[in-house]
Amino acid sequence: MQRIGLLTSGGDASGMNSSIRAVVRKAIYHGLEVIGIRRGYSGFIEADMGPMNLGSVADIIGRGGTILHTARSERFKTKEGRALAMENIQRFGIQGLVVIGGDGSFTGASILHQEYGIPMIGVPGTIDNDIAGTDYTIGFDTAVNTVVDAINKIRDTATSHERTFVIEVMGRNSGNIALAAGLAGGAESILIPEIPFNIEEICQKLLRGIKRGKLHSIILVAEGAASGIDIGRQVKEQIGFDTKVTILGHLQRGGTPTAFDRILAARLGAKAVELLMAGETNKMVGIKAGEIVATDLTEVIGKPSPINKNMYELAKILSI
Ligand code: ADP
Repeated sequence: MQRIGLLTSGGDASGMNSSIRAVVRKAIYHGLEVIGIRRGYSGFIEADMGPMNLGSVADIIGRGGTILHTARSERFKTKEGRALAMENIQRFGIQGLVVIGGDGSFTGASILHQEYGIPMIGVPGTIDNDIAGTDYTIGFDTAVNTVVDAINKIRDTATSHERTFVIEVMGRNSGNIALAAGLAGGAESILIPEIPFNIEEICQKLLRGIKRGKLHSIILVAEGAASGIDIGRQVKEQIGFDTKVTILGHLQRGGTPTAFDRILAARLGAKAVELLMAGETNKMVGIKAGEIVATDLTEVIGKPSPINKNMYELAKILSI
């Protein structure tokens, strides 16, 4: 293998840049050339790509987002779109691909592999931490830290005004961000899609807290479980409490990546290059119990990535 292609695809996540840097520098270290593809699979189809060198990844280790940009490409989901992509892959002499993204991005690359045999390795990059085959995805830790920071700030106001706050966080169908940030931030209730919740119980807990002199409460809601506004409305209906609702939204995606995300991004990016050089394909790199591992994509795509139920129970006990 002499020349590899690199792209980021799907939702952006902090640490993607750190991973781009690792892939490019590791590949060049081993004498490979790297073609950077801009705007995910759209860049393939439109030939929006070009060579990268050591300097192209200077000063990006601590920057959120992705210098290669990312996009969702409907055209790549069609045979005709992928045929165009493959023409450009051949034109640019790309012999293997590193795809930094989520489940959808890996699906696209593995279909391309099935159709044309181009080797590909996936690197999990998404704030949602919802990918099987890895304990952590790149961007999750930064997003959790952002949410904890927001909880800290909102708690100051919640305490001063003796109020109940509802905070809605991202995660798509996963409750991982809410669970980790809720435990770290000491939220009184954590609502996640993986575990059914009962609004009456949540309200009773609020009342119990007030009885024992609690000045404030924070209900953390994963977007996949309910909308924050709806929870606020239901609390009002049940016990007449006015709540303040904050939807953190896209604040959670960007920002300078944490050291954890940078280190993870570096290790995973480097491993992806090693796998391509070893002739591997259709694998995703990940971290399991602190070790960097490679998992077959058939064990990753569409497979559940369950939450840690013990952590959920612990958060419940500690917020009693
Ligand atoms: P993520 O990678 O974060 O899960 P998406 O699900 O939006 O994000 O997927 C990113 C891109 O991957 C899509 O815009 C599309 O170009 C490609 N993709 C997703 N699913 C498929 C599919 N079934 N076939 C071909 N390409 C796909």
